[in-house]
Amino acid sequence: MSSVLIIGAGGVGKVVCHKCAQVPEVFTEICLASRTVEKSKLIAAEIDRKIRIEQVDADDTNALVILIKKVKPDLLINVALPYQDLSIMQACLITGVHYLDTANYESPECAKFEYKEQWALHHDFKKANIMALLGSGFDPGVTNVFTAWIKKKHLDEIHELDIIDCNAGDHGLPFATNFNPEINIREVTAKGRYYKDGTWIETDPLSLKKSHDFPEGIGAKNIYLMYHEELESLTKFYPEIKQARFWMTFSDNYLKYLDVLQNIGMTRIDPVEYEGKSIVPLQFLKKLLPDPSTLASHTKGKTCIGCTAVGISKGKEKKVTVYNICNHEDAYQEVNSQAISYTTGVPTMIGAMMILTKKWTGKGVFNMEQFDPEPFMDKLMIHGLPWKEIIY
Ligand code: NDP
Repeated sequence: MSSVLIIGAGGVGKVVCHKCAQVPEVFTEICLASRTVEKSKLIAAEIDRKIRIEQVDADDTNALVILIKKVKPDLLINVALPYQDLSIMQACLITGVHYLDTANYESPECAKFEYKEQWALHHDFKKANIMALLGSGFDPGVTNVFTAWIKKKHLDEIHELDIIDCNAGDHGLPFATNFNPEINIREVTAKGRYYKDGTWIETDPLSLKKSHDFPEGIGAKNIYLMYHEELESLTKFYPEIKQARFWMTFSDNYLKYLDVLQNIGMTRIDPVEYEGKSIVPLQFLKKLLPDPSTLASHTKGKTCIGCTAVGISKGKEKKVTVYNICNHEDAYQEVNSQAISYTTGVPTMIGAMMILTKKWTGKGVFNMEQFDPEPFMDKLMIHGLPWKEIIY
């Protein structure tokens, strides 16, 4: 018997709403609040349970406090943008409500993400007797839980970790991003970074690539090294890790368009004066690109996201892979979304369920790998993201 307040009626927010509505025994009351109320109404109309709709500007902590006092949720689920993480966390602290998000804080002015600001709130959350669960999407999120699972079930020590994210889906359009275009392009055009023997090694954006063979008919694809936020928490909580890397697939076509957009300055995040107005080229580009939620009806193919770890088990070297395959068309059939929003929204719901059913408890700010992975892994199996493991 619990009430959730979901902030953000985008691609991910829609899946979170659908998935929470599918579990009425945990999510008794669902409220969806976002900046544009029409988007929330469209989502609510797809679901045959009552979804309360509210409007809020999540950059405004006072407005959030008023909303939280009105709705009285047990947990706030933040699936707006990373820019809003801190204002929403402050509102949760003021009102004493648990908090969950899927992406770590980033300021609009600087395309760099790190956990520093959110981890700094640990003692405040502890003092307020509430919990913040950070990064409960797929990557970060499930990838942290897969790593915790490998450590719990297979390896005494993890020495090398490779997180590999493949979207082998095809939407048939010349260029589109599979989640919020602004956040996606900021992430992809940033410098790469990986962890090696206690230090971070920086690489030029997408400059390191190799071919990787994916299972279940996906086959060989180029994967590119990127920095991703779960590397920061995983190397903190598993200090025995000697090397940790994150890889992602991109089609040649995506890279060709991105290259042109970058070369002509369309991915810049600093304001430019245009006819007396100040505009940020990347924000303007976002307006022109397809809304990722509109890709769902015509995206075909699969995603495959997983973790491969090499380490020591009973004194011997051992290698393990845990992965999930998700089909874009199945996600569309079930919740009217493409697989990227689906693979993010399902773990968001499961993370919320872990908190509300008290499978995961704690006071303070936590990352996913700090909790027992087992109940989460069980729920992935039954709520649409079954996983497999390979022991080499
Ligand atoms: P969308 O852009 O589709 O949706 C974001 C929603 O948040 C929009 O409805 C938007 O409102 C709303 N919003 C933005 N700013 C505010 C504000 N100030 N106040 C209230 N609402 C606001 O993004 P996605 O659904 O694709 O992504 C959502 C989040 O999920 C992002 O943080 C993203 O980084 C994260 N993500 C995490 C992944 C993971 O695996 N961990 C993978 C993919 C995404 P409006 O409609 O008015 O624009």
